[in-house]
Amino acid sequence: MTARLIVAECFGVEKPTFQGEGASCGHPALFIRLSRCNLSCTKCDTKYTWDWSQFDPREESTKRTVAELVDWATSSPVELVVITGGEPLLQQEGGLVPLVRRLLAAGKRVEFETNGTLAPVADLVVDGVRFNVSPKIASFGMNEAKSIVPAALKALVASERAIFKFVASSVPDLDRIAGLADAHRLSPVWVMPEGTTAPAITETLRVLADPVAARGWHLTTRLHVLAFANTRGR
Ligand code: SF4
Repeated sequence: MTARLIVAECFGVEKPTFQGEGASCGHPALFIRLSRCNLSCTKCDTKYTWDWSQFDPREESTKRTVAELVDWATSSPVELVVITGGEPLLQQEGGLVPLVRRLLAAGKRVEFETNGTLAPVADLVVDGVRFNVSPKIASFGMNEAKSIVPAALKALVASERAIFKFVASSVPDLDRIAGLADAHRLSPVWVMPEGTTAPAITETLRVLADPVAARGWHLTTRLHVLAFANTRGR
C-alpha cells in the first residue's frame, strides 16, 4: 500500500526560508507541516492544523504520498527538512518512518517540531534526526495534565537527540520551566518568547534575556515572525 501523510502545507522550495526557532535558527530549511494535533492550546498559531470549529479540514489538508514529499524536498539543495505540525508524531505509525528514511538517504537531515506528548518510535531515533521538543505549559493555554506526559519526555531524553524548547511569556513562566526541567531531567533548555508580531517578540525577549542567561539556558527568537511578519508559508 502506498504510504500517505496528512499534510497541511509544504514550503521552502519555491520561496526559500529559514528555520526560525531553536538550535538551527537562521539555517536554510524546508518545511513539511503535517495536519492534526492531539492538544488544543489556546495560543496555538497553527490552528488550521486541528481546530475544525474554525477551519475546514478538507480545505486545510491533503493526503500526500511519501514519494511526492521526497520528490518535493529533493528538488531543493537545502539540507535541513523540518517536519512540524500540528503534532507530527501522530503519524509515525503511518508514512513518517519511510519519509524520514528516504529523506536521510537523499542526504537531508530532519528536525521534528513536537509537543513532547508522544514517544518517538525506534525507527525515528536515528542519526540525522533531531527532536525539538516544546512541552506546553499552562500559560500557553493548555492543561498540563494533558500536555506534560512523563513517559514521552523520558523517551525523548533517552533518545539523546532532543532539545527542550519552551515558549515563555513572562519571567514567572521560567520558574515553571525550571520545575519541569528538574522533574524530567530536560536538557538542554531553550526559551522562546511568545508572540506573533515583531514588537511582541522583541519586548518579551528583552524581559526574558537576563533571567534566561542567569539560569544558563539558551534563548531563541522567532526569526520568521521578525523577518516575514509571521506570513503563512514562510
Ligand atoms: S501542540 Fe502545537 S500545534 Fe498543537 S495545539 Fe499546541 S501549539 Fe498548536
